[in-house]
Amino acid sequence: MRSYKGKSVYKGIALGPVAVLTNKETLVKRCRIEDAETEIARLEEATEQARKQLQILYDKALREVGETNAAIFEVHQMMLEDEDYVDAIQNMIRTEQVNADYAVAVTGDNFSEMFANMEDEYMKARAADIKDISNRLVKNLKGQAEVDFSAMEPSIIVADDLSPSETVQMDKNKILAFATVHGSSNSHTAILARMMNIPALIGVSMDLQEIQTGTRAVVDGFQGEITFEPTEEVCEEAKRKIEEEQEKHRLMQTLKGKDTITLDGYRIHLYANIGSVSDVGHVLENDAEGIGLFRSEFLYLGKTTFPTEEEQFQAYKHVMQMMAGKKVIIRTLDIGADKQVDYFNLGREENPALGYRAIRICLKQPEIFKTQLRALLRAAVFGNLSIMYPMITSTEEVQKIHEILEEVIEELNQVQIPYEVPEQGVMVETPAAVMISDELAEMVDFFSIGTNDLTQYTLAIDRQNEKLDDFYKPHHRAVLKMIQIVVDNAHKHGKWAGICGELGADLEMTERFVEMGVDELSVAPSMVLKVRKRIRGIERDE
Ligand code: PEP
Ligand code: MG
Repeated sequence: MRSYKGKSVYKGIALGPVAVLTNKETLVKRCRIEDAETEIARLEEATEQARKQLQILYDKALREVGETNAAIFEVHQMMLEDEDYVDAIQNMIRTEQVNADYAVAVTGDNFSEMFANMEDEYMKARAADIKDISNRLVKNLKGQAEVDFSAMEPSIIVADDLSPSETVQMDKNKILAFATVHGSSNSHTAILARMMNIPALIGVSMDLQEIQTGTRAVVDGFQGEITFEPTEEVCEEAKRKIEEEQEKHRLMQTLKGKDTITLDGYRIHLYANIGSVSDVGHVLENDAEGIGLFRSEFLYLGKTTFPTEEEQFQAYKHVMQMMAGKKVIIRTLDIGADKQVDYFNLGREENPALGYRAIRICLKQPEIFKTQLRALLRAAVFGNLSIMYPMITSTEEVQKIHEILEEVIEELNQVQIPYEVPEQGVMVETPAAVMISDELAEMVDFFSIGTNDLTQYTLAIDRQNEKLDDFYKPHHRAVLKMIQIVVDNAHKHGKWAGICGELGADLEMTERFVEMGVDELSVAPSMVLKVRKRIRGIERDE
């Protein structure tokens, strides 16, 4: 039995087998080989393995996200067979007498660069696909086959770190818990774990080389501990705690259908945060009144090209229909910082959190923004939609957004596609937005305070930096004063203000938010009933 401590980002208990995810950035070394034909036979074996993996991925995507979205895995299968690509790798092995891994990696880089330099947008986008296929082949050659989620029994994922796009692609039904060596509690991977109700530990100083896939483990999110090869006694204790949690969960269910209202009658709108269409089930299951933050950028992650207007429209429409008239606030894409996507070609930045992200990308590359706005306006016909814009720092940005929206309306009028212009708000997550919230309130319908970024920018603390976790204090008086300023300025102009950052779910703060006059809280689905219970126990001071 070996136990390691970590920081817990979601409190819960899990017991089960471990699946170790090895780092995908594997170093490929050039080695001189004697027998080219043996290398080529290894390559063929790895290709056959890739063919099977892609078929499994295609079938899964077809079932879960439909034919259009699944098509990418067919494209990958075709590329894998591409004669030029295969010939180039085999020639390199034969003429340069090098190992297959090296030949695949170099050929992949060359082809990918060639595609990236093409004029045609479709061909350009194939650069990322070639990279993906080559990485898959290299992994197979190195015997580092990725965890096959479709065949995997529910497991505890153990990894060095997980990016938001890796996390979003995982089959949530197969994950019992996460434990990672690195990561920060405020990262989007941590937020995803909370949204998925998954016990998760970060900063666990374990040696991945020593951990075998299949080993039994217990993750205790309350103690912040993972135990490999636990004794029977520890397993029994974990099972008892799991039952206790299930019992608490059952008791919480009695709050379903009840109002979110204080003892003296102050009503708060209690919504839930989501990152994908499949999260709507959790929203309904936990009886949230609506969706207060749909992080739409997750539709862009884990893909190799931009989602089309039609794909986005279908996703938003689906959410609207499932929510059947309840409020759905969709945030326009907040890509950049920790949410990186190859096909955006954002490049490396010294300070990504202070960099080219969110609304800045949308205003600089309005075509990307317009595609999303068209899809949103079309989906608004199907329910009670609101749009909100992230990372706002000036009234000029809001003005520019309004101009772009006018162009979109004009385009939709021309093609006579049905649409509605929904309620629009901004996220207040920069100190600049707080300081001009009096002016912004005149331009928008509501504010949603993003305390995750507001804390980062107010305290000058990179929320991704795991070394600074202890300095990241959303309870800081500066942050709380800012929340009060924003709420007061919204009310002065007859608008509402809510909180959609993680602080909104902090039960220690609920009473304070009620006193501040916060109108709405949007929290992880798993927190909805807990926050409702807390609010129903509050009696405001005179
Ligand atoms: C926030 O910053 O508080 C927020 C809700 O947005 P995100 O966490 O996605 O940056
Ligand atoms: Mg934010």
